[in-house]
Amino acid sequence: MIRPSVLIIGGGPAGLTAALRLSARGNAVTLLEQGGELGGRLIRSGTDAIPPVFLGSHRASLSLLKTLGTAGHVRFSGGVNLEFPLSGDRTARLRRPWAPAPVHALLSLAMFRALPFQDRWRALMLLERTWEGDPGLPPDLESRTANEWLADRGQSAAARALVWSPLARFLLGDDLTVVSAAMLITMLARSFLSARRNSRIAIPTHGMRHLLLEPARTQLLRSGATIRLSTAVSQIRFDAQRVSGVDLQTGGTLAAECYVAALPHRSLSRLLPEKALAHYSYFQQLTSLTDSPALTVHLWLDRPLPAPRLLLLSGKTYHWMVSRPEGGPTLVSLVATGKMDILDRPDRELLQVALHEVRAAFPTLSNARMQEYRIVREPHAFLSVRPGTAALRPLHRSPFPNLFLAGDWTDTGLPATLESAILSGDLCAEAIHTKMEEHR
Ligand SMILES: Cc1cc2nc3c(=O)[nH]c(=O)nc-3n(C[C@H](O)[C@H](O)[C@H](O)COP(=O)(O)OP(=O)(O)OC[C@H]3O[C@@H](n4cnc5c(N)ncnc54)[C@H](O)[C@@H]3O)c2cc1C
Repeated sequence: MIRPSVLIIGGGPAGLTAALRLSARGNAVTLLEQGGELGGRLIRSGTDAIPPVFLGSHRASLSLLKTLGTAGHVRFSGGVNLEFPLSGDRTARLRRPWAPAPVHALLSLAMFRALPFQDRWRALMLLERTWEGDPGLPPDLESRTANEWLADRGQSAAARALVWSPLARFLLGDDLTVVSAAMLITMLARSFLSARRNSRIAIPTHGMRHLLLEPARTQLLRSGATIRLSTAVSQIRFDAQRVSGVDLQTGGTLAAECYVAALPHRSLSRLLPEKALAHYSYFQQLTSLTDSPALTVHLWLDRPLPAPRLLLLSGKTYHWMVSRPEGGPTLVSLVATGKMDILDRPDRELLQVALHEVRAAFPTLSNARMQEYRIVREPHAFLSVRPGTAALRPLHRSPFPNLFLAGDWTDTGLPATLESAILSGDLCAEAIHTKMEEHR
């Protein structure tokens, strides 16, 4: 079978995944990226924007790394647990007892000291029923915030602040008062209320550049794909029925048989002609999507920490932090997500707070000296998964038969993180394949 040529706009993880999957199937792929390197929001000014953390439930990411030959760096055997610092020097860990599903999750919650006893008991009842697909779960979960839903289900303000809110920021990139109850439940069910292996956590010593971006680039070039960096598309051209080409900012037009827009939703809206935006609700909906900011601070400290750790924080400036040994020094990455006022603060102030919070969390680093730092600010880091957003996220097939969408914000059923971006690339490649089969 002759496979159509595909032009992919956007060299972030979604575009890269689609490119890898399609070129592996024999499609002639050209990837256009406006920046000087691949990676999209994973890389900002040459720095990793996100600390590498994988959950066992990140099936699309793990499968991609397997294809790229880097899955071996993601070792789940270290036994990283979610940690919640409590008052004093105490820390509660969400352990993963050896027991068959669903007992492991229920035991893990029963032993979880961060939640007061009453909240733990109510959460146990709730989670047990969630697991079983309890018909008692209200049908309106997508129209309510997770905060409202948890309060309704008897979770105290203290439990929501100490446990549920940091968990929502870590899993969904936003606050409990913003995200939909449905999205929180989806992620809890996928990661903690299913097979025990899905709740495993790995913090590899290598960043995304090494695990994903460099091997993806090598594999694409090896399979004959063309990668054009510093090549921005200024408009997608349509004739009556199909996409006919893309205009480049530097002049000229490129054409292919199929097109994949693997762009943030705001960038895609800017490339569409007025007519497409006005005529198709599929495209109109993009303008109703909103984003949440994120800020990452990486600190290299001159003391070793023996094992990687992942702490979810409550009542702090940063919402979670990851430590991982890097030979001698330790790299601690702190992430703040969701509505926040710190994005515009000067580096000096952000560093001061970050060091203070790291030393409070890791007493053995109290005298550690900072060797180096990097700060990444991004006002549009994640799609905000507020109530009602699920219905606005587009499917990968567009109304035009040769235009397909990918991106963390498309309809993957997951919060808009790296896992969603990679899954969207898979689904988009699958949609193109299915379309070709239909035309055989
Ligand atoms: C500070 C920060 C922290 C984050 N933390 C986490 C985290 O902890 N965990 C997690 O899973 N995710 C995190 N993310 C989100 C993660 O980076 C994204 O989910 C992921 O990068 C989305 O991939 P994508 O391919 O859909 O989009 P993008 O990565 O945005 O890629 C889109 C690409 O399209 C290119 N492009 C745009 N317009 C054009 C054009 N006109 N022509 C050509 N190319 C164009 C862009 O340059 C970009 O390379 C974080 C992001 C940031 C910024």
